Amino acid sequence: MSFSPLVDELIESLRCLPGVGLKSAQRMALQLLERDRDSAERLAKALTDSVEGVGRCQKCQNLTEQDICRICSNVQRSNGQLCVVETPSDLMAIESSGTFRGRYFVLMGHLSPIDGIGPDEIGIDALLALVEDASIEELIMATNSTIEGDATALYIADLLENFGVMVTRIAHGIPVGGQLGYVDSGTLSHALAGRKPIEG
Ligand code: ZN
Repeated sequence: MSFSPLVDELIESLRCLPGVGLKSAQRMALQLLERDRDSAERLAKALTDSVEGVGRCQKCQNLTEQDICRICSNVQRSNGQLCVVETPSDLMAIESSGTFRGRYFVLMGHLSPIDGIGPDEIGIDALLALVEDASIEELIMATNSTIEGDATALYIADLLENFGVMVTRIAHGIPVGGQLGYVDSGTLSHALAGRKPIEG
């Protein structure tokens, strides 16, 4: 059913969220308009502010409103290990496992020639610059256990062959086809602890 142009637009906008179909979008819109206008205003402001203010960290490509994100600027974290992930949500998953104290690089995707996503699109140059610049001893490839994630890890391992950096891949336990963001933190900790060097 149709409400009014503004309500319909709100419902339609909410449907851009993952897993939100028409029914859920209707419920959310009515909840916000009928019962919780304060939260609705807060949500609207947070959306506008973050869309306008949040960009990428100049070092690791993670989402941040600063030039350099909190993790990159944290002097307590070790410089020796750099964990390469596909998305900010993968970074968050590893962070919440609480086992990794090094730094990250967020590819913002994986290599996918069919979709026109090549090395430039995932920031390989920035990654190489980071590896050359910093005193990184180990690059931990924590891309997803998918064909694309594996291919991306291998590609980066090949590129870094002569950089004098050990490149490792997180271990099994991550289900094949699995996305890190959906894996529990215990499994993630095991996968990190059981990482193995990538053979060129
Ligand atoms: Zn950063």
